[in-house]
Amino acid sequence: MKGRIRWTIAMKVGSIISVLILFILGLLIHSIIALSEIQADLKEIADLDVPLVEVSNEIEVTQLELHIEMDELLRKNLKAGETDFDGSRLKFLSGKVYLLIDKGISIAETGTKLEAPQSAASFKRVSAALKELKTDFSGIDQALARLTTRLPSKEYDNAELVSHILNSDERFDKKAIRLIQTIQALTERKEAIAVRHEQAFKIINVSLSAIGVSLGVLLGILIVTGIRTNIFRLSKRMEEVTTAIKENRRIPVGESDSINSSDELGGLSEDLSNMIDSLADDIARRDEVSKQLYEMATIDHLTKSFNRLKFDEAHRAEVERSKRTGADVTLVVFDIDHFKRINDGFGHDVGDTTLIDVVKVASNAIRNIDTLYRTGGEAFAVLLPDTTIEDGAAIAERIRADVENHTFDKVGQVTISLGAAGFNHSSDNAETWVKRADEALYQSKETGRNRVSANHG
Ligand code: GH3
Ligand code: MG
Repeated sequence: MKGRIRWTIAMKVGSIISVLILFILGLLIHSIIALSEIQADLKEIADLDVPLVEVSNEIEVTQLELHIEMDELLRKNLKAGETDFDGSRLKFLSGKVYLLIDKGISIAETGTKLEAPQSAASFKRVSAALKELKTDFSGIDQALARLTTRLPSKEYDNAELVSHILNSDERFDKKAIRLIQTIQALTERKEAIAVRHEQAFKIINVSLSAIGVSLGVLLGILIVTGIRTNIFRLSKRMEEVTTAIKENRRIPVGESDSINSSDELGGLSEDLSNMIDSLADDIARRDEVSKQLYEMATIDHLTKSFNRLKFDEAHRAEVERSKRTGADVTLVVFDIDHFKRINDGFGHDVGDTTLIDVVKVASNAIRNIDTLYRTGGEAFAVLLPDTTIEDGAAIAERIRADVENHTFDKVGQVTISLGAAGFNHSSDNAETWVKRADEALYQSKETGRNRVSANHG
């Protein structure tokens, strides 16, 4: 369950990261396309816009020079008798304007072949404007040519021609201004594109930064979550082990919830896990050995009943329990009558067998909750929890009768003498309780054996 939740978190963060990476890839592709567009635009500006603006400026300047020259010419023409006008400069300037317009047309024509439809259309407009300008200029040029050739011969009626030249020149000026505006609009459009690109790049930059930060945070979360989970598992395992050791329980070995990361933490966890497992093995083996040792130390080898050591421990524990809960508890002690005679008469081995059989008979006579101890050579004790002295005496009587009625191998009849004492909450401790039971047993021996005496003290 926990593994699944962790897997899900990792997967969620992983998928967000994948989406972000895809997004970054998309942005990069977009940037590359945008960059190539910008490059094309910049090339366009360098190859066409700048020379076109230069040409238009030059046309404007030449036009201005032409104007000045024309003004002088007309002024001279208006004054009668002036015949020394040199029209060569006027010719040169007008030729220059033609050349410039042609140059402009050739640049604009190159522009009309551009792939970007908007740019091509703009250059088409510029080219058309330049062609129109060329037609207009040819009118002025012809009029000027006429003026320059006629002036020296005084054949010319100037009033009509001068007004024609001035009108054409005014029109030409207007058109030239419109052309310059068209070319400027072209440049402005480029500027707008550049600004748009700049904005797009700003957005891309901000997006990339945001994604970068998000990726960092997410990766951080992923790493921290992984480390935290591993540390949590490790500390949980350590806690399990410590608790198990404290409570003297078996240490769980080979937990399935182990850390499966390949980093240093994973290595450390594996080492620890191996150490814990071998520790658990060791402790389990030690537990087994100490259990065996405890059994060896508390069980009587001959009769397989509990021994004196266990009795000392158990009767004290019963005293504590009885004091704590107020429950009744009765102790019965018994001793085989004239056992020495059995040994003497049938041998020590038969004596041993008799001891074993007495234990068997007595064990059958008591309840599951009662426990039998061999406290001496042929002396025994029975602890009867939750039992009053009256009920305890009755159980003692049953033991006595069962032994008396049993036919022992080789020996025949065997009897026992018993003493019973109930724990007295107000006056007894462990020692006085056992002592009173012994006194009762002594009384049974004194009063003829094969009987039960109860100490009600
Ligand atoms: P009483 O009726 O007064 O108890 O007389 P008794 O003969 O039973 O008592 P006594 O104390 O005189 O003798 C106990 C004998 O039990 C002495 C001892 O050799 C024998 N005995 C003690 N332990 C063992 C044992 O493990 N095996 C055998 N076969 N005999 C044992
Ligand atoms: Mg005896």
